[in-house]
Amino acid sequence: MADYRQMWNDLGMDLEKHDLLCEVLPEAFGDVYLSQENRPEGMDYFNFVVSEIHGVRPSELVEHQKKGGKVFGTFCVYVPDEVIFAAGGIATGLCGGSQFWVPGGEKVLPANTCPLIKASVGARLDGTCPFFKIADMYIGETTCDGKKKAWEILNQEVPVHVMDLPQMKRPKDIKAWEDEIKTLLKVVEETTGKEVTAATLGEQIKVINNKRKALARLYATRKNFPVPISGKDTLVITQIAFYDDPTRFTDQVNKLCDELDERIAAGEGVFPADAPRILITGTPMAIPNWKLHHCIESLGAAVVVEELCTGVRYFENLVDETGTTIDEQISALADRYMKTNCACFTPNPGRIEDILRLAKDYKVDGVIDCNLQFCGLYSTESHLVQQALKKADIPIMHLETDYSEQDFEQMRTRVEAFLEMLQK
Ligand code: SF4
Ligand code: SF4
Repeated sequence: MADYRQMWNDLGMDLEKHDLLCEVLPEAFGDVYLSQENRPEGMDYFNFVVSEIHGVRPSELVEHQKKGGKVFGTFCVYVPDEVIFAAGGIATGLCGGSQFWVPGGEKVLPANTCPLIKASVGARLDGTCPFFKIADMYIGETTCDGKKKAWEILNQEVPVHVMDLPQMKRPKDIKAWEDEIKTLLKVVEETTGKEVTAATLGEQIKVINNKRKALARLYATRKNFPVPISGKDTLVITQIAFYDDPTRFTDQVNKLCDELDERIAAGEGVFPADAPRILITGTPMAIPNWKLHHCIESLGAAVVVEELCTGVRYFENLVDETGTTIDEQISALADRYMKTNCACFTPNPGRIEDILRLAKDYKVDGVIDCNLQFCGLYSTESHLVQQALKKADIPIMHLETDYSEQDFEQMRTRVEAFLEMLQK
């Protein structure tokens, strides 16, 4: 990695502790990613982004701030990036996916909090992630209890604006989300000092829709036999989508897809055509959480689709681009975002319908429902997910895990048994 120490120092990071993270990340990425065979050349860009993860994009964000721009950190796929970019701000995902940050979070949070929340809080309090230090404001949401309380702790460090996400999907809830987006727009305008116009919002709706279309194109390539790209590679691309420049990211994904189309035409893939095909559903996998994908794919099966926030929930459904006034555009944003099916909603039949649809479209052999420990929402919803899949005669396995490597062997044994069962 190039030398970014001055920038990290200026950001007030704990350099000594951060060095420890810089030592382990390249090794982890090398073991999990660079060891794969026959990777598409188009992965070079994404490899570079990961290798410079705390350098290249943070430098761009700092440059933006030097010119008077503002950066907003987000933690959930319900927060509409379009509004932030339309006000001249930059949105960047902040969810923590490393065990490295968990102890820092445990200093202030109950141990039985999900690792994603603990890692996110720890990354900020320990001063070991530039993104958490750079953001001028965090945008939280009322999705789960752990997050709601974590915002109050983080608010002691950095201003947090919390969006009140309804927990049902009646017309009045969609209207309420529309009002929350209007409030966000005002908060963002006040913070950046720039007015959002129908022209800027319309433009950003197109930019983010283009990113969604590129990801949809990438995922669609995985419907092929053999699959032209690994699940691990697709996962890291989706993780990068949360913080990279949207236009550059879209171009790179489309370039990769051109290469994947050639592979498909040539019948070339990264797994044999008869490798078991797996759908993963459950809680999000924030970077650098690659544990389950690595476990499955190192056993010779292919992860072909993810019903996750770091999967199809991030890009399915486009925002209607025909609105010409801010009110029409915000209504279109509310409609699109409320189509996402997170377990924080009740009832949430859409998620099960999505899993069944994806299982069919991607011709999967089995589903792994994997939740982060202490996520009450997804663990509880798992009962209905398993029931529906059994009814549809789709093999399903439920797993609970955290960010540590301690249960890796146990996970491997269970996944291996599941894959053997699929091949019988
Ligand atoms: S799982 Fe739910 S709360 Fe978590 S990022 Fe996704 S939509 Fe947001
Ligand atoms: S995984 Fe579950 S508990 Fe953790 S932040 Fe997401 S919804 Fe909340």
